[in-house]
Amino acid sequence: MSDGNLFPTPEHAVALYREDTQELYRQADRVRRRVFGDRVFVRGLLEFTNVCAANCHYCGIRRDNTAVHRYRMDEEGILDVIGRGIERGMKTFVLQGGEDPEWTTARLCRFLERVRLRFGNETAITLSCGLKSPADYRDLKHSGADRYLMRFETGDPVLHQRLRNGISLKRRLKGLHDLKDAGFEVGSGYMTGLPGETEDIRIRNALLCRELELDMVGIGPFIPHPQTPLGGSPQESLSHAVRAVALVRLLLPEANIPATTAAGSLQPDGREQMLKAGANVLMPNITPVDHKKDYLLYPGKICLDESGFECVGCLSLRVKTVDQALCFDRGDSPAFAGRTG
Ligand code: SAH
Ligand code: SF4
Repeated sequence: MSDGNLFPTPEHAVALYREDTQELYRQADRVRRRVFGDRVFVRGLLEFTNVCAANCHYCGIRRDNTAVHRYRMDEEGILDVIGRGIERGMKTFVLQGGEDPEWTTARLCRFLERVRLRFGNETAITLSCGLKSPADYRDLKHSGADRYLMRFETGDPVLHQRLRNGISLKRRLKGLHDLKDAGFEVGSGYMTGLPGETEDIRIRNALLCRELELDMVGIGPFIPHPQTPLGGSPQESLSHAVRAVALVRLLLPEANIPATTAAGSLQPDGREQMLKAGANVLMPNITPVDHKKDYLLYPGKICLDESGFECVGCLSLRVKTVDQALCFDRGDSPAFAGRTG
C-alpha cells in the first residue's frame, strides 16, 4: 500500500483484480467513499447529432449504416434542453455526437459563446464529439467548453486500428494529449468485451488510464449492434466492465467515473453494480425523446421513451439502494484541480 495506507499501489491493485473480486470491490468502494463521500454527481447527457463521418466497426451510428435515420439538433433546440436542465438544478451538461461535418468547430465555438452569455459560468459544459486538431481544441476551450470526453476504446494498437477503421491508437492518444494541452478537464476510457480482447489487454487498458492521468474515465460493456461489422460477435459478461471500474478507481482515486448507460442497458442493475464498485457519476439522458431512438450506438438502450428529466426521480431511488445520494454540484474533478490549481 502507498499514500499512508489509504490507496493501494498499482501493483497491489492489479493483484487484487486478478485474484479476488470481492476484495477488489470492497477496496474500490472504500476509496470512492473516502474521496467523494456518498455523493453521486449528475450530468445531463444530450446527444445533439447522430451524423458521423467516422466508421468505427462497433458503432450503430457509423457512416455506413444506411438504416439509421439521421438527425442534427440546432442551436435553439440545444439551448432549450440546457435551460430546462438548469431549471431542474443540473449544472453539468455533456454534449455528445458523431463527427458531424456540419457542426464545425467554428459553429460549436459560436454556440458555446451563446451558452456562456445566456447561462453564465456556473454551468460546466463537456463536449464529446471526437477527434479534432490542436487548434480546434484550443478554440473550443477558449469559447467556453470546460471538459472533453474521448474514449481510447481499446489500448491495444492492433485491435484499435482494426475496429476504428484504420485510425491508429497513436492518433487517438495524441488527441488526448492535445486536449490536455488546451487546458481541458479530460475524460477517456474504453469498452470491455470487444472481440479479440484478452485479460492482458483489459489490465493494460486500466493502466493506460493511470498513465494518461485522466480526470474522468468512462467504461462500458461492448454491446454488438446487428447493423455493424461486429454484429455477429458474442455478448461478453458485464462483470468485465464492473471489475474494470473497480480497478480504475484504485489506480485513479480522484477521477470521476460514471456508472454507464451501457451497463444499465445490459443488466437492469448494471449501474448500481458499478456504483458499488467505485463509480461516482450518473448521466441521465436528456436528449429529446423524438431523437433518442435514433442515437442507438448499441441495441437495447434503456429509457428511450422517457425524458431524462423524469429519469432523475428513478435515479435518486436507485442510488439510495446502494447507500448513496444524487448531488447536483458541478463536481469538478479533484484530480484536475490538483493538476492545475
Ligand atoms: N463520436 C464520439 C462520441 C460518441 S460515441 C466518439 O466516438 O468519441 C460514444 C461512445 O459510445 C464511444 O466512445 C464508444 O465507447 C461507445 N460505443 C459505441 N458503440 C458501442 C457499442 N456497440 N457498445 C457499447 N458502447 C459503444
Ligand atoms: Fe462516430 Fe463515435 Fe460512433 Fe465512431 S463511435 S462511428 S466516431 S459516433
